This record gives sequence, structure tokens and C-alpha cells, in this order.
Amino acid sequence: MFKKILVANRGEIALRVIYACKELGIKTVAIFSEADRNSLHVRFADEAVCVGPAKSSESYLKIPSVISAAEITNVDAIHPGYGFLSENAYFAEVCEACHIKFIGPSPNVIRLMGDKASALAAMSKAGLPVLPGSEGIVESLERATEIAHAIGYPVILKASAGGGGRGIRIVRTREELATSFPTARHEAQIAFGVPDVYIEKYIENPRHIEFQVMGDNYGRVIHFGERECTIQRRHQKLLEESPSVVMSEDRRDKMGRLVEEALTNIGYSNAGTVEFLVDENMKFYFMEVNTRIQVEHPVTEMVTGTDLVKLQIMIASGAKLHFEDHLKPRGHSIECRINAEDPDTLVPSPGKITSFNVPGGIGIRVETAAHSECTVSPYYDSLIAKVAVHANSRPEAVKKMERALETFVIEGIKTTIPLQQRIVRDPDFVAGTFSTKFMDRYLA
Ligand code: ADP
Ligand code: ADP
Ligand code: MG
Repeated sequence: MFKKILVANRGEIALRVIYACKELGIKTVAIFSEADRNSLHVRFADEAVCVGPAKSSESYLKIPSVISAAEITNVDAIHPGYGFLSENAYFAEVCEACHIKFIGPSPNVIRLMGDKASALAAMSKAGLPVLPGSEGIVESLERATEIAHAIGYPVILKASAGGGGRGIRIVRTREELATSFPTARHEAQIAFGVPDVYIEKYIENPRHIEFQVMGDNYGRVIHFGERECTIQRRHQKLLEESPSVVMSEDRRDKMGRLVEEALTNIGYSNAGTVEFLVDENMKFYFMEVNTRIQVEHPVTEMVTGTDLVKLQIMIASGAKLHFEDHLKPRGHSIECRINAEDPDTLVPSPGKITSFNVPGGIGIRVETAAHSECTVSPYYDSLIAKVAVHANSRPEAVKKMERALETFVIEGIKTTIPLQQRIVRDPDFVAGTFSTKFMDRYLA
């Protein structure tokens, strides 16, 4: 087992990883930017190293600084969390070259899945159903028009290097394609450094359902069931749950088996998420693989009773997956993301939190690095807390979430708590009848 791990992240996920290390008896090193000097992840780690100024590109994303911090403190491994360097294949390679274990899949797998067009091709070949589309990147408007005509409008243009809901454009007509195609390439170049885009059939009222997987270094991959992540704004998740109301045990087995086979085929190891779109006839299509621990991992932990972060660490240090069989989901779990944003406009609302009360009670889990008198920085992601609940049934979980949100007090800044309250009281949400268009009624 590792003796010391550097946590290459900040906020709630850095704390989450530090907690897992403490419970495993592993020493921790935090890294922090000048803006995060007083953050809880710095306080709770055994050691902490400043890696630069507030701007991520000069601190949390700066590979030479992160590696230096790891070398000075003599760690065995780096846990990247999510976002930042977590899906950076080059960073994983540098770690390897420096004899520091990167807690995640191999650099080759990260690279293959990080390019969404190549991931689609690989996963289709490995047996997962995919949407009709360009089967690779499209370089000319002429070719894009041919493909869109062949698969039929509406279509969706996606940046191959995109993520976090960015780099996506829905196109409904040929005329729209003529303007959207060059714009999409231009935007992709600016946001991700590469202009590559690909085309997919656009599904009108889908659900987003994803499978949590874990692979060990001995060729075994198992799934931990699904998460329903259909409640989104701007293609970003707001609320997640497990299990999905539309999933039967049979369907879970069938999809889960396909996922395991496909990932075994490409030599997948450590944690990952395989995302699907599910249409109104319950046909499912592979969308992408996220090669890291995800924001919404707590709902899977709650229904399977597994600590996924500890498992990531143990597997990276050479442990075998010891599960005999798939874990059946027990009860129901829901997570709400609480962002420092105006609940109506979703404009970020950084600033000082003057009062902070975290909900408690049976079946409630709050992941946060925020506290009273702390300052939410404008430099980073606006996620400041996650509330997850676990109950015997979905109706009980919904009620519990309603109560948790009601007793979660954050003053001094605006948060998405009021928006989440509207969602959990919405009759369609309560009934489980929704698609990715659900939020349209709440947001302009
Ligand atoms: P998903 O990427 O499927 O939405 P998560 O919600 O777990 O999954 O994303 C984790 C975090 O990483 C989010 O804060 C998201 O904004 C960010 N993120 C993921 N991919 C990228 C990317 N390519 N560029 C910028 N941010 C990203
Ligand atoms: P990201 O890498 O940003 O997470 P994804 O490819 O996972 O991008 O797509 C993000 C979201 O965009 C999906 O969860 C879904 O809501 C929407 N989306 C993506 N592809 C399609 C599609 N072909 N049809 C309809 N909606 C889609
Ligand atoms: Mg995605």
C-alpha cells in the first residue's frame, strides 16, 4: 500500500480524497494556489505545498509545479480528483516517468477516451451501440452537410476534446449547419486547443444514464450499476440519482455486461464512467467515457455500500477486485449539486459566506470544503457542496432531500439551493417522468 499520496485538486473532492487516505492510514500532501491558502484541504492534509497564483493555469494545472511538489514531499502516488489534470494523458505519463503512481487508468486509455471521436470508434468496435453519425472527425462543411443529410436533422456537433457540457451545438437545418459548423470548429480551437468536431444524430427527449465501473490491473472490470443524470442545465448535471426509475434488473445486467466487455477489451483499469443516452423507446447509445472519479460518485456509494475512492487507491497500489458478483442497489440515493450561482440566471456568485448550516440526520451526506466565514473564490468551479441522501425507496429519498435542502443554510452568497428545491417538488420529477429538457421550464 502507498505511504503518502499527493492530492492534485482543491475543494470538496480534495477533502473527499484526504478522508479516504486517512481511513487507509496513508499520509497526504495537499497542493494549493495562493487563493486557497486558508482552505480546509490545506488544513486537513499532513503537508501542503503552494503551487502558484490563483489562476488554475498557473497553479493546479501547471504540471511542473505539481510534479515538483510531489518530488519534494516524496509521495508514492497522485490522486487527481476530477477536472484539472484528471483526464490529462500527458500528466499521467509524466507521473509514470517520475515513478509516481497516477491513480487512474493508463495514459493510453485516457488519451483514447479523451478524444471523444476516437472513443466512439473504439467503443463501437468493442460492441457498444452508438448513434448514427460521422464515425470520426469531420473537416469540411461539405462532408458535414452530406453526413447530416444522410442521418437526418436534427444533428449535434461536438468538440472531440470537449467536456463539462462545453463544445456542443444542436443543428436543426442545413442553413444552420452552414453557420454552426465553422463556428463550432473555431470555438473548439479556442476552448480546447484543437478544432476537431464530430457529428451525431440529436435525440429529442433523452435520458442520460451512466454506468460506474472499476477495473483492476489484472484484466477484471466490474460495473457498480447506473446513475440517472438527466436533470441538467446547459448539458451539465444538476441532480443525480441511483438507481434510475427506468432501469430494470434485466436491463441493468444486459447493459452492465456490455460495458464490462467493452472496457475489458481496451484494457481499462481504475475508476470510470460510461455515459449513455437512452431514447423514449429505451434504446441506448454510448456517448463517452469519463476516465476519472465523477462528481456524482456518492449516489453509487450509497446504494452499493462501497467507498469508490478507497477502491481507486487500493487498485492503483495493486489490489485485486474481490467482488464475487455485482452489488445490487439497496434503496435509493439522490444527490443535489449546490453551486455558488444565482438560482434564476445561474450567473456565478462568489464572495464571503456569512452563515453556514449543514443538514444532518440519518441518510444524509454533505460533501463540502465550505464553512462559515470562508470565501468562495471566483477563480474556480462554482460547485461548493453536494448533498446526497439515502433512503429505502425513491419517494422517501425525495422527501429526505426536500428536508435536507430546507435545513441547508448558506448566507452571504447566492446558491442553487432554491432551484434544487423547485426541482425536488416538481410533479414530473417526483413521478420520474422527465428528459434532459426538464430544466427548460425553469431557466430562460
Ligand atoms: P461530466 O464531465 O460528465 O459532466 P462531472 O460532472 O463529473 O462529469 O465533471 C467533473 C468536473 O470537471 C466538472 O466540474 C466539469 O465542469 C469539469 N470538466 C470535465 N471535463 C472538462 C473539460 N474537458 N474541460 C473543462 N472542465 C471539465
Ligand atoms: P460532455 O463531454 O460535455 O459531458 P457529452 O457528450 O457527455 O458531453 O454530452 C453532454 C450532454 O449533452 C448529455 O448528457 C446530453 O444531455 C446532451 N447530448 C449529448 N449528445 C446528445 C445527442 N446526440 N442527443 C441529445 N442530447 C445529447
Ligand atoms: Mg459527458
